[in-house]
Amino acid sequence: MRISVMGCGYLGAVHAACMADFGHEVVGVDVDEAKVKDLQAAKAPFFEPGLPELLERAMGSGRLTFTTDVTVLSRQAGSPEADEPMVHFVCVGTPQRKGEFAADTSYVDAAVRNLLPHLRPGDLVVGKSTVPVGTAARLADLVEPTGAMLAWNPEFLREGHAVVDTQRPDRLVYGLPSDPATAAAAKALLDGVYADPLSHGVPLVTADYPTSELVKTAANAFLATKISFINAMAEVCEAAGADVTQLATAIGHDDRIGPKFLGAGLGFGGGCLPKDIRAFMARAGELGADQALTFLREVDAINMRRRVRMVELAREVVGGSFLGRKVAVLGAAFKPDSDDIRDSPALNVAAQIKLQGADVVVTDPAAIENARRVWPELQFATTAEEACAKADVVLLLTEWREYRELDPAKLGEIVRGKHVLDGRNALDPAVWRGAGWTYRALGRPRAGD
Ligand code: NAD
Repeated sequence: MRISVMGCGYLGAVHAACMADFGHEVVGVDVDEAKVKDLQAAKAPFFEPGLPELLERAMGSGRLTFTTDVTVLSRQAGSPEADEPMVHFVCVGTPQRKGEFAADTSYVDAAVRNLLPHLRPGDLVVGKSTVPVGTAARLADLVEPTGAMLAWNPEFLREGHAVVDTQRPDRLVYGLPSDPATAAAAKALLDGVYADPLSHGVPLVTADYPTSELVKTAANAFLATKISFINAMAEVCEAAGADVTQLATAIGHDDRIGPKFLGAGLGFGGGCLPKDIRAFMARAGELGADQALTFLREVDAINMRRRVRMVELAREVVGGSFLGRKVAVLGAAFKPDSDDIRDSPALNVAAQIKLQGADVVVTDPAAIENARRVWPELQFATTAEEACAKADVVLLLTEWREYRELDPAKLGEIVRGKHVLDGRNALDPAVWRGAGWTYRALGRPRAGD
């Protein structure tokens, strides 16, 4: 099938490469010239495991191209390409609006408007961006006069696992038009696009536009709530001298609860969960259903409090003031296996500590360049050893595997103070304490408590 992908960021670049790998002919379109230049050279413009190999393979096949020029999508009436319907995926960003909770959908609107002159009857525009409920119906009014159709197909990929999540998602959701014949035509095109995962038994849920939009925001709201739930338990554990990791293990054995997303620590960040729950609250307010989501305010507040708590704990450990202290921060990305620093809890904590007078050195296996661009006032080191040299305290804030596997005995030889704060409950306290370190973590008692 012939496919275009509007927006080639964390979502769109992976989607374009995976679709080409399924055997489709794909053109990725983005307004960012530098990004497109990298992609044209089969270079991944961001860190995502498996993407470089996939890009190389897909571009080597000749089925994947990238451009900034949307007019490549126009087809001459009567040409063989014009008779064949194209599927156009919209994968552009929907960031939080400045000074508001609501999502900025202007990029989605612009991408669809840019497509309009190139749509032909029978084409299908497919929204994948995370949008406020009601967006699809509004965009369908723009698309339908061209004779093309619109569907919504929310995306659930996790950065760090984006390739496999796109190839074999947990489920596919199609939000289809209300007219049965149009819905059947749109579904047939999507079934063709996703023939590979569907043939491997990936479950499919078909729904109307608003339900499909809400599936995505509801899923993110649930995940954020689960993380903030265990972090609320961590706050109580801290007050009561209990251990949240044991509590999480014990409640996670209950099938109805399950062990996933019960890792207490510094909380969630990134380009999705924080802005998505805020946009969800804003949209519910517009719809007059704000009471239904007031709990998400608390979910957000619990999450943000963990960052403050981490800073307090670090200050306590270095003797009550950061002045003249050196703080090593392991991790800058919002989570491991990604270079994404959007709303990164690690960088938020690092910056707060810096503002309170410490000398802060941050390291990360993939995100230093991105972090330096946004926080030039922080210092950066390329290795954990370099960052920790003469540090008064070491903060593990993003649980990259190489940090989980650090040798406390070796690290103990280069620091000034053997104090480690485990912001992700990713280290073994017994091992670190055995090597002479003071180990502190969110939601866990200090040794001897
Ligand atoms: P991103 O910022 O990495 O990528 C967006 C891209 O769109 C950028 O490269 C930008 O240059 C491009 N763009 C902007 N306007 C454009 C236009 N008019 N035409 C063509 N390209 C344009 O963002 P992302 O993380 O890929 O997220 C995209 C959407 O997918 C968001 O709605 C997000 O919430 C959703 N989503 C993201 C993830 C994720 O893990 N990143 C997962 C699921 C859903």
